[in-house]
Amino acid sequence: MYKAYYLEPERSEFECRIEEKISINDKTYYLFDIFPFYPGGGGEEADCGYCMDKKLEECIETGEKVYYSFDGNIGEVGDTVRCWADIPLRRERSIMHTSQHILSAIFADMFSLVTESVHFSDTYAAIDLSSDDITDENIRYTENKANEIVRSCIDVSWKVVEKSDLKNYRLRKVLGDVESPRVVSIPSVDDSLCCAVHVKNTGHIGIIKILRIERKASKMKVFFTAGQSALEDYSKKNDIVSKINTHLSSTVDNVIDRLLKKDDDIASLRKKLSAVREELMVYELEKFVQSDIRVITKEGSIDEMKVLAATLMERSEKVFVGIDRSERKLIIYQNINRPVNAAIGAVKENFDAKGGGNASSGQVMVNSDMDEVVNFLISYFDPMDGMEGMNM
Ligand SMILES: [Zn+2]
Repeated sequence: MYKAYYLEPERSEFECRIEEKISINDKTYYLFDIFPFYPGGGGEEADCGYCMDKKLEECIETGEKVYYSFDGNIGEVGDTVRCWADIPLRRERSIMHTSQHILSAIFADMFSLVTESVHFSDTYAAIDLSSDDITDENIRYTENKANEIVRSCIDVSWKVVEKSDLKNYRLRKVLGDVESPRVVSIPSVDDSLCCAVHVKNTGHIGIIKILRIERKASKMKVFFTAGQSALEDYSKKNDIVSKINTHLSSTVDNVIDRLLKKDDDIASLRKKLSAVREELMVYELEKFVQSDIRVITKEGSIDEMKVLAATLMERSEKVFVGIDRSERKLIIYQNINRPVNAAIGAVKENFDAKGGGNASSGQVMVNSDMDEVVNFLISYFDPMDGMEGMNM
């Protein structure tokens, strides 16, 4: 059986002979004489690809064999079929994977940090380390050292060995009981047991960039990217910084200072705004107190309206209905001997609304038309209209 994904990892097209065709749970699986698609494992996902225009759906590895299923029939036993593997995608994954070997090796050798687990996506990867006992400066050192290894263009090799030979390697990663251990070696950097596809030379990685670290419960997660994904990440961030610079008339060197100054400006404006609002509230309050209108309605934020309503209740006999349209909430205050909780009960009977309160204040969440509910409350509370009028 020819594992093309290991032996010719950069070759996309293969002509394969169908050796076996089996059915499991109504799904058809094919065994070829050549295995063009990596079945996944070692943290690396299975290849994407096509056979006779049918998309690869699943790979099942059993012993030395790999069975493939597709989204349609590709032929019968004995047929020769043409397969196409997505090499750019596999290359990017192998770049990310090999970068992880390099970073994990430096963390282990230089700082005694053990890689406990790894996570890969198509744009970044993460290494979980056993401890967070490393300075930010040494993280920077690790990144520089990793890129030195990339630029040194070291050949990456692999070998399936006998279990008894494993003692001859200084393995960073020890797996459980593996039948045919596969040792992936980056000479003078790392020997690891791994079944994934790796680059043939560290120079193919291009660049390794640590994106950020998360420290939690004395452990650490290191997020990084590499290869084309690193270039795309750089382009994306460069675009963002350029847009911010255009917006703030800043440069890369002073953008942070400009942003901090903006924060100060906003804080100072907020302070001024708050002072103006307080003045406005005093003015509004006076206007409401003097008004002949018994039911005062006002739009705004709940917190501000609560302060206004409470002060108004101390100054005059009114009903206050505050309207917060963004939250779809109404607050109601009264001191004219018409209990708010009864009013809210009436609202709930007539509209799609929920809420509650006591005799003097309450709050309603409105799903119906808010203006209709407000009009209802005005006629409910206004003695010149509605129920009081009817009592006359
Ligand atoms: Zn690997």
